[in-house]
Amino acid sequence: MFKTVGAHNVIMFDEDGTCVDTQQVVIGTMNREFNTNYTVADASSYDWFVKTVMSLDKEYKTPEDARKFLFNENVIRKALPTLGIQRLVTELHHLGFQIVKATARSETQREVTLESNEMYFPEVSQIFMRQPQHNKFDAKLHAIQTKRPLVFIDDDADLLYNLQRFVSEETFFILIDRPWNQVVRSTGGKKVFVTRDDERLRRFGFFKEDNHEWGKVYAWITKLSAQQAQQAK
Ligand SMILES: [Mg+2]
Repeated sequence: MFKTVGAHNVIMFDEDGTCVDTQQVVIGTMNREFNTNYTVADASSYDWFVKTVMSLDKEYKTPEDARKFLFNENVIRKALPTLGIQRLVTELHHLGFQIVKATARSETQREVTLESNEMYFPEVSQIFMRQPQHNKFDAKLHAIQTKRPLVFIDDDADLLYNLQRFVSEETFFILIDRPWNQVVRSTGGKKVFVTRDDERLRRFGFFKEDNHEWGKVYAWITKLSAQQAQQAK
């Protein structure tokens, strides 16, 4: 077999919204609880879920209250793998990549996370959970700086956009196209758009329900890996 995996042999995945479609379950829970008819396409930003719950029920007074309702263990336990992702993970693993996850789920949710990974993603060798002292950004940055992956794949555009300025240029980012990451805001509040052609922060269109997009991700990663192996010679 043609060896494509170089020194940077880790591919790192986010969990919710990337490997598993947690938002689908969250919206189902909201619709049952509040008798609404939302679909995933209504989620126009990452905050949409929290803001909507707070507007529907005044009992949820803080974003933290809303998050506890939305992303509790019974909800995340039901999240199923996103279409086509399992095949991508398996194929990358077969090529020799180490598959690692970095999630903003708290350490207290490790057990439920391990359960679903054993079931759907047995190739995963390590999972970074968010530690108490970390916010989402810190948690992902810590995982990336520890493992120095070739590629990190996530569905939060703002997070990736901001992370890339703190991460070594050897790590590339893939943003999976989802309804809530179409508009990206930089830290200065300025609108920026992550395009398909940005070499470091590449957007792929999973949201268009085109399963072949994962094939393009696979092709892009193997090409990148071959390039790095070539440069290292
Ligand atoms: Mg996510």
